[in-house]
Amino acid sequence: MVKPDGVQRGLVGKILQRIEEKGFKIVAMKLAAMPEAKAKEHYAEHVGKKFYQDLVDFITSGPSVSLVVEGRGAIAAMRKMNGATNPVEAVPGTIRGDWGIETGRNVVHGSDSPASASREIALHFDPSELV
Ligand code: ATP
Repeated sequence: MVKPDGVQRGLVGKILQRIEEKGFKIVAMKLAAMPEAKAKEHYAEHVGKKFYQDLVDFITSGPSVSLVVEGRGAIAAMRKMNGATNPVEAVPGTIRGDWGIETGRNVVHGSDSPASASREIALHFDPSELV
């Protein structure tokens, strides 16, 4: 997902280019403002943490781009391409390392396991929207 800061800063094209040049296939893509109920479901694992409400407020603050990326090792590779959660620690060449500013506005999100990818794809897409 390209988060609202990435969309607002006009980084969608550059991020898509990295995914395509890596060789992954984009099989679904959607620009939409995430409703609060969906944001709470998306970030359910963080309920109770002190940054939770800020996270929900931020992810619903403007349109984001949800993507389904397909390819061998795509989950792990996308997380490497995204870089460390805290952009200060993300190495140059990663999305957050090149364009991130702070943890709360770190440009992108990536599923961290096959289980979370399945859950998040089902949350953001109807099966008919995957090509
Ligand atoms: P993502 O799930 O977005 O790819 P991640 O797996 O690297 O990120 P998580 O620990 O799952 O990181 O946290 C989810 C998101 O919550 C982070 O991307 C970040 O935007 C936000 N977040 C995490 N920790 C903090 C924190 N200490 N302060 C503010 N926001 C945070």
